[in-house]
Amino acid sequence: MLTVISWYAARRSRRQLHEWVARALTDKPTLLAVVSDKYTQEAHVRPFAPVAERFGDRLHVILAAEWEQEDRERDGEVLFRQLGLAPAARHRVLHDEGKGRTGVVLRQKQPVALIELFFEERGFTTLDGRPDPRGDEIRAREDHVVRQLEDLLVRLPPPPPPPPRVLKPGEHDFTPQGICTYCGQGRSTLLACTGTRRDESPKRDRFELIEIE
Ligand SMILES: [Zn+2]
Repeated sequence: MLTVISWYAARRSRRQLHEWVARALTDKPTLLAVVSDKYTQEAHVRPFAPVAERFGDRLHVILAAEWEQEDRERDGEVLFRQLGLAPAARHRVLHDEGKGRTGVVLRQKQPVALIELFFEERGFTTLDGRPDPRGDEIRAREDHVVRQLEDLLVRLPPPPPPPPRVLKPGEHDFTPQGICTYCGQGRSTLLACTGTRRDESPKRDRFELIEIE
């Protein structure tokens, strides 16, 4: 999935860069970059658009583009400080060295890695429909980015389990299939859970038949 935030759209909405990113960011693995490069078509922004397409649901790509260097440094500093990125890393992702761009990989809204990227706006074919003469070169660089991200996603430790939820008396504990693990009722039930109520006498088997009182 690809989310492109342009400076103009952000300015029009009077929303700060960090607010835009906060709205887009989920716990999923995310590649985030803030660049000053201009673009005309999101689908031609490389490596961002093809990387987003290749990873599908496994990686969210968030690209803030067209931030003039001064705005990029100011707004990016706020953004990356909020995300907990160290000062040296913040400097790296907000300043370009030649054609190199640096992105941050996040998981559960925490930075886990920096990755070297680039920025090109090109289609796979030229305007007259012939294959782009630099197509192979750009694709090779994209493949390299994809391989690095693949390696990283595999190496990431599994996310910590969510904290155990304390159920209130009468509250059901539904499995992903929508069946309560205590009383066996489905998600559409209108009845309170007899299973969690029975937790008051914890010795009793939770799979015991429901008692009508
Ligand atoms: Zn139940």
